[in-house]
Amino acid sequence: MKIVIKFGGTSVGNTERIENVARIIKENSTENQLIIVTSALGETTDYLIEIIEKAPKGDNCDEILVNLEKYHNETIENSIKNDHVKNDVKERTQKMFDALKKSVEGIITLKQATPKSNDQILSYGERLAAPILAAKLEDMGLNSIALTGGDAGIITDDKFGEATPLIKLTKHRLQNNLDSKIEKGIIPVITGFIGKTQEEEITTIGRGGSDYTATLLGACLNVDEIWIMTDVDGLLSADPRILENTKVITNLSYEEATEMAVMGAKSMHPRALEPAKEANIPVRIKNSFNKKSDGTLINDTVIVNEKEIAKAVTRINGIAMINVTGMNMAGNPGIAGQIFSILGRNEINIIMISQSISESNITFLINKSKLTKALSVLEIGLLNKEIVKEIKFEDEVSVVSIVGAGMKGTHGVASRLFNAISKKEINVKMIAQGSSQLNLSFVVNESDSVEAIKSLHDEFIKK
Ligand code: ADP
Ligand code: ASP
Ligand code: MG
Repeated sequence: MKIVIKFGGTSVGNTERIENVARIIKENSTENQLIIVTSALGETTDYLIEIIEKAPKGDNCDEILVNLEKYHNETIENSIKNDHVKNDVKERTQKMFDALKKSVEGIITLKQATPKSNDQILSYGERLAAPILAAKLEDMGLNSIALTGGDAGIITDDKFGEATPLIKLTKHRLQNNLDSKIEKGIIPVITGFIGKTQEEEITTIGRGGSDYTATLLGACLNVDEIWIMTDVDGLLSADPRILENTKVITNLSYEEATEMAVMGAKSMHPRALEPAKEANIPVRIKNSFNKKSDGTLINDTVIVNEKEIAKAVTRINGIAMINVTGMNMAGNPGIAGQIFSILGRNEINIIMISQSISESNITFLINKSKLTKALSVLEIGLLNKEIVKEIKFEDEVSVVSIVGAGMKGTHGVASRLFNAISKKEINVKMIAQGSSQLNLSFVVNESDSVEAIKSLHDEFIKK
């Protein structure tokens, strides 16, 4: 088979883990053609985010940089045995750290960053990781080459921070650059999360983007399967950090898995399953640390077990709820349209919407990081008109959802859900069900969300 295997940050987080990953690659390389995608080591991306938040304020970032450098150097030192291979990757790593430090110094001095410079900084996590993993493979006697997403052929638009791959061009370039290498038995280790524009500027494709890189590569290179290797046994019925008694979901359709990703499960990029779905390539979510587990198989088959209404309970944090009210909004068409176009023009994405029957208020959710901007553009755009009276917000809310194809066409799901929630005396602030009927979602205070998840998991997930 031809397989893309992606390893998440935790799977490559230290020497032992890199060794484990290299072993998995070696074992699978004897019978298959492999394309490897790697995330940044451990929590490197989180530290790089700290840098892009601090540096433009002029704050010193030396400590973070020193720690990151030490972390990567120690990993190389302990992972690679062959001196030639080790020195080579050490040198590459040093060059990257020198360049990273220079960029950070520039931002600190000017107290100025741009989306482009942010992506440049964020890209270092994966750019540092790929050569280390490729070196480890060489060290174990395999033939491997490290490539950035951009150099492999992933070309994106220039929406820095959330760039979109230009599929046709990307497919052409990926095939040109990789097919012959794969045929020769060379294992490409490609950085997840990043691409480049046609002008050769580095872009990132959004948090959790390495999963998206993996499916994109899979679709463009016509592979048989895509494996997403992580630190849990597959997609689970709830976040294992919240609940102990979660279950591994053995089968999901692309639509169900997408719904779970969008609704916050496994910090997966919301578009991660799109390329796989379009090319109809099975995706397996597996545990790097547990060979015995079969993981989750995602494909085009919808399997609903008897009486199974939901397969998972999910949560999104870090969102804000905005409420626009005004008695005159009733019977005044176009207010919703205006809200959406104001937010759209300002590149603020709406996560969920609901409007009361009386039409005198519209409530919607956005990412918390965009709240200040959203409030100011809405005030400018709406309040001077007679129709809108007030714009209110809450910024400590969570969206809790149940997800699964079993609720489609099933009566009484909402009543069971809200019964379970009301027994816990949790106040529901907003409700929405997508037309796909694959999820039922509602908003609660962030502080109530764990209790809400627990009660829904008890109610809907079979033991
Ligand atoms: P990786 O580094 O492999 O990409 P992530 O941190 O992005 O891993 O995602 C894996 C983590 O997501 C798991 O360790 C788990 O704690 C968390 N998680 C939250 N919800 C779920 C879920 N429904 N199924 C599986 N994992 C989940
Ligand atoms: N390193 C990036 C992140 O932490 C991409 C990824 O791991 O998927 O979001
Ligand atoms: Mg991830």
